[in-house]
Amino acid sequence: MKAPDFSRDSIRAILENPFSAGLIARYPRPEFDTEDDVEHPENIPAPHVAGNSREILELHPGQHEALIPVGIWQAAGDLRRQKASSPTTAGKQKNIYVLSGIGRCWECFSATGQEYTLRGSTGGNGAGYYRCAYLHDSALKRPPKKQPRVAGVNLAFSERDATLADRHASLRAEKLEAQVDALMSRLVIPSDWHEAILAYYLTDEGLTEFEREGYNLRQSLKRYKELHLAGHISTAEYEQQARFITQRLDRLKPSARPDAQEISPLLHSFAESWRLLNNGEKRFLLGTLFAGLYFDHNGTLRRALAHEPFGELLGLPEDGLLQA
Ligand SMILES: [Zn+2]
Repeated sequence: MKAPDFSRDSIRAILENPFSAGLIARYPRPEFDTEDDVEHPENIPAPHVAGNSREILELHPGQHEALIPVGIWQAAGDLRRQKASSPTTAGKQKNIYVLSGIGRCWECFSATGQEYTLRGSTGGNGAGYYRCAYLHDSALKRPPKKQPRVAGVNLAFSERDATLADRHASLRAEKLEAQVDALMSRLVIPSDWHEAILAYYLTDEGLTEFEREGYNLRQSLKRYKELHLAGHISTAEYEQQARFITQRLDRLKPSARPDAQEISPLLHSFAESWRLLNNGEKRFLLGTLFAGLYFDHNGTLRRALAHEPFGELLGLPEDGLLQA
């Protein structure tokens, strides 16, 4: 099958568009001017958007199927921003919240079974915080304080919701992220996976492509073995041929490719490498490894739901529930 004829720019456009990740974005739009002369449209000045017209004001889940996981869309955006940032703006990296997209509210989940995400923000003191999206949403719907709240009238904010909202707090990003760091430092990638992971890093086809390249060599090795067993060639000749072929096979391994060296340290010493990743990279990896990381109102990690096989590699129970 022929690969779709995508240019680099169209791939970038797909990766950067939240629509691809199943989301609908709202952008700033020019405001209507009641002074406009609608009888003579030629007199209406060109619409002007205040601020950056590509700035995303809101994101909502769309009705359409996502082309790419939200994590990939976020990671693509992060990478683009990193590339675009000059040394003076490089400090912005700290505003990428490692747990956004993957952090979940344990309070909401345990009370209602619903998934509410944790959103990162910077407090007045410059420190990072996470807040449950539910708290954020219900705060918006909360009627003005002086107005007595009547149960059942404002359905968006019922009594039960108030109880749940009270079980929330702003969570210090440092505290949450330290627990995730501790969890990730337990991850050991089995050595027999290394070649396969490197292969996927190098090509979309993974090991298949490397196996195809080595096919003839392996067939030839098999043939020499048969010849030797049948007594047609000497042990010395067989061993010489076998050594020669094995060397060539080793050179075909993904790990032998110079461009594989970039992620090699990540495989051999994951805990070490994790500490060296920047926030955008950490967030991308967490999105690959986990379905959700749930924190309670104390900021304690209560559930770490990993995708297979990472749950096993991290020694997590199948349901991801941790001892409080
Ligand atoms: Zn919540």
